[in-house]
Amino acid sequence: MFDLYLKRNNIIFNRRVLLGGLALAALAFGPAHAQTPTKKLAVVASFSILADLGKEIGGDRIEVKSLVGPNADAHVYRATPQDAKLVREADVLIVNGLGFEGFVPRLIRASGSKARVITVTNGLKPIEKPKSGGHDHGHSHDHGKHDPHAWQSIEAARTFVANIRDGLIAADPSGEAIFRANTERYLAELDKVRGEIVAMLASIPKDDRLAIANHDAFRYFTRDFGIRIEGARGLSTEAEPSAKDIARIVRIAKERKAKAVFLENIADPRIAAQLAKETGAKLGGVLYSDALTDEKGPAPTYLAMM
Ligand code: ZN
Repeated sequence: MFDLYLKRNNIIFNRRVLLGGLALAALAFGPAHAQTPTKKLAVVASFSILADLGKEIGGDRIEVKSLVGPNADAHVYRATPQDAKLVREADVLIVNGLGFEGFVPRLIRASGSKARVITVTNGLKPIEKPKSGGHDHGHSHDHGKHDPHAWQSIEAARTFVANIRDGLIAADPSGEAIFRANTERYLAELDKVRGEIVAMLASIPKDDRLAIANHDAFRYFTRDFGIRIEGARGLSTEAEPSAKDIARIVRIAKERKAKAVFLENIADPRIAAQLAKETGAKLGGVLYSDALTDEKGPAPTYLAMM
């Protein structure tokens, strides 16, 4: 009962904050721009992280839906008939590209969608997948030679939002000033979070910066922040890791005296638990690699996730 009471209070509190924010926005733009257009742009993102970025840039002028939902794994996603309907009725699609969403091209063709497609990784220099030892995400759809998990780089996220901004302006030119203002505000927030991460990592000695993760989602993050990741290869979210893969990672973790093993929200928690047990490392917190949590979870937005 007490728990429920607290949760209710939380929701009320959040609403108050939201109302406060709306009131400020109305003041800032003045009455002439306060009214929202009668028909919002229908935007469909392939997965939750891109839906969040779309919301940040599109604001009230768009209605965003995500095909792959919170805590779900885009690598193994199977499109539903509802997805086809969403895509058919969308004005704009936001996708990652780099072979991440193998199900999307077929969905666009099958649905007869005429939506404008924003590929957020356009213009980025992607990380190449390792030639051997690295695990592709397994399925036939994923033969790309680039690592698709670019959103784990805050630097890359700057390109993502610039691409979203330009695509939304093309689809809804009368919203240009708002999309540009939202982008400027969000870029400043990205800078702030990057600064926070740098400050947090500064306390970890350089030699101790080694990552062990369930799948190869973190190369962009580790590249940006000077963390070695050699132990992470060989595991993906799709395939059960072999005994050999596990043994190899246990060996590396012991050699490097790894202190913690982290879970991923989209992967099988038993694997991390087994690694922790066999290496004597602590189970760290949950990492949000390829999906956000729902609104009640600890990572409902990209900024919170990072
Ligand atoms: Zn992934």
